[in-house]
Amino acid sequence: MTDTYPAGSGRYPADAPASEALFDRARAIVPGGVNSPVRAFRAVGGTPRFMVRGEGPWLYDADDRRYVDLVCSWGPLILGHAHPGVVEAVQAAAARGTSFGTPTPGEVELAAEIVDRTPVEQVRLVNSGTEATMSAIRLARGFTGRSKIVKFAGCYHGHVDALLAAAGSGVATLGLPDSPGVTGAAAGETIVLPYNDLAAVEEVFAAEGPHIAAVITEAAAGNMGVIAPRDDFNAQLARIAHAHGALLIVDEVMTGFRVSRSGWHGLDPVDADLFTYGKVMGGGLPAAAFGGRAEIMARLAPAGPVYQAGTLSGNPLACAAGLATLRLADDAVYRRLDETAATVGKLAGDALAAAGVPHRLSYAGSMFSVFFTDAEVRDYDSARTQDVPAFTAFFHAMLAAGVYLPPSAFEAWFVSAALDDAALDQIAAALPGAAKAAAAAGHGG
Ligand SMILES: *Cc1c(COP(=O)(O)O)cnc(C)c1O
Repeated sequence: MTDTYPAGSGRYPADAPASEALFDRARAIVPGGVNSPVRAFRAVGGTPRFMVRGEGPWLYDADDRRYVDLVCSWGPLILGHAHPGVVEAVQAAAARGTSFGTPTPGEVELAAEIVDRTPVEQVRLVNSGTEATMSAIRLARGFTGRSKIVKFAGCYHGHVDALLAAAGSGVATLGLPDSPGVTGAAAGETIVLPYNDLAAVEEVFAAEGPHIAAVITEAAAGNMGVIAPRDDFNAQLARIAHAHGALLIVDEVMTGFRVSRSGWHGLDPVDADLFTYGKVMGGGLPAAAFGGRAEIMARLAPAGPVYQAGTLSGNPLACAAGLATLRLADDAVYRRLDETAATVGKLAGDALAAAGVPHRLSYAGSMFSVFFTDAEVRDYDSARTQDVPAFTAFFHAMLAAGVYLPPSAFEAWFVSAALDDAALDQIAAALPGAAKAAAAAGHGG
């Protein structure tokens, strides 16, 4: 296949006729034209690109324009698009049948791979990160017999009712208040605290300790931009929660199997009670999981009384994609992800510095994002000091030069091990112009 707009051909036209036509059709029959809000480009404006195929580091849109993909399906694709080993595994599984509604060998293999890589003793497979955190919360409440949950502002744990309070990701991107449709009863059991603020955690436990079932935190925050936990934050959460008989749930849906062989736990091990996983472990198909100590997991049905189920949980295609991805994700892949994240971050930082654009690179292992601000960023309030118009101009200039960034200033940039020299060259070529556009549009411009 030849590219209509090969790398280095300069700017793509501002309009994208095939995507525009698809978006018009979609908007008539799908709310907002998309099946997940951030995809709609509301925060940056313009027409979302409808993608038709991916290959390694590249995405191709309906107008046959090629982009370096720095979203990677929002994290899952650490090996890049259509990795032959993953495609083959899915094809072979599909040929054997798509779903049986019975236990299957693939589920045992995937569970064993997860248990081998992580601190969890037992794991239950589900279909999305949302289901994983929702089920982990139910289990924590069932195990402790308590009702309240502590979460942090700007952390996103999927669209679970009780966790849609001061949530990150699309909720942050769109500047939404807490969602209508979440009842006071569902949200009233949720206590929201500032991220990285241990004093606030101590205070709330001193006041409400006996009623708190669990603290849930992203292993490293990645849904308000990337913000690493400071000052031993996760370990202190475990200490405080345990001192009061509560559980710690570490949400590794984004970090798990991405920032190390196990996830954030490989970089910053903490004594958490439950962990949630998703994204990478599904290899681009719907698979997620929650797990923890056998003593807690044994409370789940059918071993115990806490109910949890799913028609397609442990689906054979999803297990095949996840297992192939994890088995291919060896030390060399993790080294490559670390190097590539450092390279892309440095390229972006240098270009923004050269253009005089206030910014901060923020890393958590190989996850990173760029905050368009001079301020120190340690929580959701400081993340929101960003110069969003500067990011918006930067985003559109990168897109026009063939680099697909997350369409929001509040999302992580995701690299894959497939980012090769040609892709890095295209990023490097795009950056100076985009940094100038950011400088012209920003508060200082
Ligand atoms: C993506 C994400 C989720 C939700 O996962 P879905 O599969 O989109 O439901 C939960 N927690 C974190 C930390 C995430 O990044």
